[in-house]
Amino acid sequence: MIILGIESTAHTFGVGIIEATGNVSKPNEQSCKILANEKDSYTSEDVGMIPNEIVDHHNGVAEIVLTKALKKANLGWDKIDLIAYSAGPGLDPVLWAGYHIAKEWAQRHEKKLVPVNHCAAHLSIGKIINKAQDPVYLYVSGVNTQIIVFDGGKYRVIGETLDIGLGNMLDKFGRYLNLGFPAGSKIEELSKKGKYVELSYIVKGMDISFSGILTKCQQLYERKQASAEDLCFSIQETCFAMLTEVVERAIANTDKKELILVGGVGANKRFCEMLRIMCRDRDAKFYSVPMDLAGDQGAMIAWEGYLRKDSVPEMEVNPHWRADEV
Ligand code: AMP
Ligand code: MG
Repeated sequence: MIILGIESTAHTFGVGIIEATGNVSKPNEQSCKILANEKDSYTSEDVGMIPNEIVDHHNGVAEIVLTKALKKANLGWDKIDLIAYSAGPGLDPVLWAGYHIAKEWAQRHEKKLVPVNHCAAHLSIGKIINKAQDPVYLYVSGVNTQIIVFDGGKYRVIGETLDIGLGNMLDKFGRYLNLGFPAGSKIEELSKKGKYVELSYIVKGMDISFSGILTKCQQLYERKQASAEDLCFSIQETCFAMLTEVVERAIANTDKKELILVGGVGANKRFCEMLRIMCRDRDAKFYSVPMDLAGDQGAMIAWEGYLRKDSVPEMEVNPHWRADEV
């Protein structure tokens, strides 16, 4: 099957086209070939994500991104079997914008429409790309920070942030330092010149919390008690260590032998290094997702659409749709 996937939950508008084969209930026989994965992301120098501006951005780029994707895949609409779109979780107006675009394209070209959970799509693409069997997932994006396993036919969130997602936290701190948005990669650059400043380490059972650490970093910077470089280094060391600790506990308790890191924060090399060392010590395999598939994009939506095509939920969008509700 050829599937076109549309991503529109936050800053990125993406169109991915994949060729998918295999029985959806037999993971070992499945294959996902990515034919195109075009996207255009909203960025801003000074502020974060303003929903209405993102809606305008996505509406403005949709047809351009689509045209690029079809050209890259060297296909016309006649070859597309179905359209999958990200129905949530995400920013409400941005989800609606994506839904209306998807619906229009589906009606215009008479295609079936499959609403897809964005979080589950991150997990599924990480699994198929790495040919993993039964991993623990660490999902760290802008909004989400969750430790997830697949058990009894559905995803279970076994640990998560009690307040904000790590990516959003890094972006908020970056905005404070005038690094622009998104700030994760700039924080990673600055961290290379920093040294450790003690911050709170907040782990509660399998859950973690970041907002207190953010406030502390802002205070230390404001009072000139620590440099931007030192705080970037320390915020990374502290938050990544907290997550490495809970993920290690997840691996120990579930007896799983694989870890997959998904979501945009997975682009961070230091984060991957910490997790890789922990996995090596536990004889577990560590998988990350290549840069072009780690962040938000349409190919993962297309693949998740393939896996869910036979049990399509009745919905338009759901801004609070969790992976464990799929
Ligand atoms: P996503 O929501 O999955 O697209 O991920 C976006 C988030 O990833 C944003 O909050 C970025 O700041 C963050 N991010 C991207 N690159 C890096 C990096 N190298 N280190 C840390 N965070 C990053
Ligand atoms: Mg995402």
